[in-house]
Amino acid sequence: MSAGQGPPVRLGLFPGTFDPVTRGHLDILGRSLSLCDRIIVAVAEGHHKQPLFSAQERVRLIEEALDPAIRARVEIRPFAGLLVEFARANDVRLVVRGLRVISDFEYEFQMALMNKRLSRDIETVFLMPGEEYIYLNSTLVKEVARCGGDATPFVTENVARAMARKFAGKES
Ligand code: ADP
Repeated sequence: MSAGQGPPVRLGLFPGTFDPVTRGHLDILGRSLSLCDRIIVAVAEGHHKQPLFSAQERVRLIEEALDPAIRARVEIRPFAGLLVEFARANDVRLVVRGLRVISDFEYEFQMALMNKRLSRDIETVFLMPGEEYIYLNSTLVKEVARCGGDATPFVTENVARAMARKFAGKES
């Protein structure tokens, strides 16, 4: 990515479904920017899950949720297919994933090993969120919003509004 002058740019990839982005995701993204100069947030089109928001909507919600200083160091792109192919095509070797409670561990471990098997160059690093986010996930947040609860402790304002609109539309 650099033009050959100065130190090389350290690039990381933060993949996920982000349906929708939560303050937990943003916490991990912020931490990953202390390890990397730039991060590509790869928004999975949603193969096995039926997402509430389209990939385009999820990309836009992340864009709107970021502070300008962070936004300047982040690219947000939808992707489908194998993560290792997306990583190769974008010349990135470092994958960042968040690790919450113990239940994340087995799945994350399997996926990291599979990705390593598919591409030897890929390294996955796991970051822990601040403890206030350890039990936070998109599914629970959608449940709170669906039932009319205040989601703003868990998501940014734009995301809370988008969920409220979605569920209002669904109910009518
Ligand atoms: P996926 O469907 O691939 O699990 P998610 O959108 O649920 O994607 O999550 C993307 C990444 O963000 C995963 O590594 C997940 O563990 C991490 N993550 C999600 N919520 C949190 C949170 N509250 N704290 C830490 N990491 C999180």
